[in-house]
Amino acid sequence: MKKSFVLDFVLFLLASPILLAKGMVALGRKWGSWRSSYRVRTICENCGTVMSMVGLWRCKCGYTYKGHLLRLCPVCRTMPAMVRCYQCGVTEKLPEP
Ligand SMILES: [Zn+2]
Ligand SMILES: [Zn+2]
Repeated sequence: MKKSFVLDFVLFLLASPILLAKGMVALGRKWGSWRSSYRVRTICENCGTVMSMVGLWRCKCGYTYKGHLLRLCPVCRTMPAMVRCYQCGVTEKLPEP
């Protein structure tokens, strides 16, 4: 009984750095996507134009607003999922929050 407890404890000690590392990687990924989704501008993959996230935006429900793209629509409560290039009209999917 006591021996298996010690063994469990040793296994836990051995496993915890792995769990910690896994947790750090998951946290880092989350932080990375959060940072990229809150940047102010992005580059159009089609024409290379710098697309500003701050401007005039229209939600799919028709609500039009001025400011940062990433905000909840006050009418339909949805978050924008893509950004449209002003130059060529190509849309780029935004990273999931
Ligand atoms: Zn473009
Ligand atoms: Zn809307």
